[in-house]
Amino acid sequence: MTCIECNKKLDYQDHKVSMDNLGVELCSEHVNRMMVLIEKRNTPKEAIQLYYGLKDAGVTAMLEWWDGTKSIDIAISRVKLNIIIDSEYNMLTHEQAINDLEKTMHSFKNGFTTIRIPHVLIKHYLKETVTNILGIIDGLRVHLKAI
Ligand SMILES: [Zn+2]
Repeated sequence: MTCIECNKKLDYQDHKVSMDNLGVELCSEHVNRMMVLIEKRNTPKEAIQLYYGLKDAGVTAMLEWWDGTKSIDIAISRVKLNIIIDSEYNMLTHEQAINDLEKTMHSFKNGFTTIRIPHVLIKHYLKETVTNILGIIDGLRVHLKAI
């Protein structure tokens, strides 16, 4: 067991704390950094799991990227892809839905693609979610070349 961020060896306690809190293998130092992020930016822990899932698949992403007006859960700047984790999918009101659509429209106008992923998907289908995002990245790359 090693930290997926710095490769430091994890003892049983480090591993347990990290898995219980975040669901990924991180050393105590990196767990603390993530806990600060969760506190400051309200980062869903599924965003952290997806971030490391993508990293594991060789994708360089940014966690909590500030786009000038808001913080994006995960941004893949190379292909201008923003990923938002919907943490309260079932409680989405129509006001929130139209606000979300408007935000998506604005970022689309600026050349960014936004996808929203329900947190339950990461919980149950992390691998498949990563595979699909890889496909989206490939598709975007082809389109960017075409422009
Ligand atoms: Zn570490």
